[in-house]
Amino acid sequence: MNHVDYLRISLIDRCNFRCQYCMPEGAELDYILKQQLLTDKELLTLIKEVFIPVGFTRFRLTGGEPLLRPHVVHLVEEIASLPQTQDLSMTTNGFLLAPIAQSLYDAGLRRINISLDSLEPDTFDQIIGNHGRGRWQQVWDSIQVAYNVGFDPLKLNVVVIPGVNDHEITNLAALTIDKQWHVRFIEFMPIGNAHLFSDRGWIPSQEIRQLIRERWGLTESQVRGNGPADVFKIPGAKGTLGFISQMSECFCDRCNRMRLSADGWLRPCLLNETGQIDFKTALRCGVSTASLQEQVRRLLAIKPEINFKQRDKGNTEGVYTRTMSQIGG
Ligand code: SAM
Ligand code: SF4
Repeated sequence: MNHVDYLRISLIDRCNFRCQYCMPEGAELDYILKQQLLTDKELLTLIKEVFIPVGFTRFRLTGGEPLLRPHVVHLVEEIASLPQTQDLSMTTNGFLLAPIAQSLYDAGLRRINISLDSLEPDTFDQIIGNHGRGRWQQVWDSIQVAYNVGFDPLKLNVVVIPGVNDHEITNLAALTIDKQWHVRFIEFMPIGNAHLFSDRGWIPSQEIRQLIRERWGLTESQVRGNGPADVFKIPGAKGTLGFISQMSECFCDRCNRMRLSADGWLRPCLLNETGQIDFKTALRCGVSTASLQEQVRRLLAIKPEINFKQRDKGNTEGVYTRTMSQIGG
């Protein structure tokens, strides 16, 4: 059985982008109300008094867009300073990053993933939706700032969408040649918004690798991260290439994570919410943290049975209808 010690924490479901693959039109109508979000105090109580005691030591802050969360630097500082925290990272779209990158670093954040689906401003705007005119440059500038501040590794996430950005695969891969950046190609998942791309399908990692291999060659890298990425390198490059193949390869058997949504639901699997726990209501009703620990232990015990595969077998009970921005991708 895999050791589950990694928690992805969604700080907020709101976002300042509307990436077509993540947030369908009108998603803002379903935003979690402010009073339904876990407060800073509730979140920190859960981390200190529930998750750490049951063995979680690695945390990733995500969303929605985590930098929209008020007091995000304070939260980073609190979590990073816990002696049991072995790893703290963040996934962001980077739009608001540049002015607070140094503060986040000083607060203890060392690892950051920035989403960058295109090097072409027009394509970028098309992907991130109508709200996004002219935003590419600001994200690009944030990437340079984050690099100069010293985030290491600095990872760039690319969701490959057929007919939209697949012509840029080699240009994006080339970013790793001169800089110690880690570009990660993610297979597009039809989740919550399948209709948008259902006619175009998705591109398997193997095909993406083949394109890169034909251009430069590709070697398997010794570096392995915390997560499900298979890591490769263009020979002689400073950075690496990661491939996250959740569509073409099932990696449920090596899953080491759970997800906490911004409104306090602990979910055992991205695509299957069997057994989920409503922590916010529990805390607000005065349930003890000792009892919550017990609930998490029970969920950990059944987690190996709760996975994507079960969903594929047609078990629709408890399967997500939420989009990535709501789950906390
Ligand atoms: N807003 C932040 C960002 O974009 O990096 C963090 C949240 S976002 C939901 C986290 C990651 O999920 C991003 O790298 C995004 O590209 C990825 N993602 C969202 N929807 C996806 C989908 N349908 N298929 C694959 N990856 C997806
Ligand atoms: Fe927002 Fe990130 Fe989803 Fe794009 S991928 S809409 S930036 S949450």
